[in-house]
Amino acid sequence: MASVFSRIVKGELPAAKVYEDGLTLAFLDINPASRGHTLVICKEEYPDFLTMPPELVAAVARTSQVVARAIKAALQPDGFNIIQNNGAAAGQVVFHYHVHIIPRWEGDHAVRGWRPGTAVHDELHATAALISAQLGKEQA
Ligand code: 5GP
Repeated sequence: MASVFSRIVKGELPAAKVYEDGLTLAFLDINPASRGHTLVICKEEYPDFLTMPPELVAAVARTSQVVARAIKAALQPDGFNIIQNNGAAAGQVVFHYHVHIIPRWEGDHAVRGWRPGTAVHDELHATAALISAQLGKEQA
């Protein structure tokens, strides 16, 4: 079944669109974390970052930068977050790859960050070794 975002692409559902090109579409989030909270999607439906062709990741990144510049100029936030959730455990609700641009104003508490832990030197290096060994296998 088509995702809710594919239905927006097809014009079956309304959206407050801000930008569109051949590969990507940007529109305001229906439950915004802040004024101007925008979603940038790939028009073609892929569930998440890992399933996206790299050239489409690049297209979404390009559009995200164009739109973020426009948000900065139009709404003059103090900053903004770029957030991209993958998997239910990471808070993903719509399984159609998308990037959030969330304008931020000093003291707005619009987005809760992660809780910083404490690095244990040996564990950091053991984890890095696992990941880099995997990358080594993939590149062999
Ligand atoms: P996720 O948690 O998957 O990264 O974020 C999905 C986002 O899509 C949520 O912030 C949610 O408010 C937004 N959303 C879900 N359905 C719709 C919709 O029909 N229209 C718009 N504009 N946003 C939607």
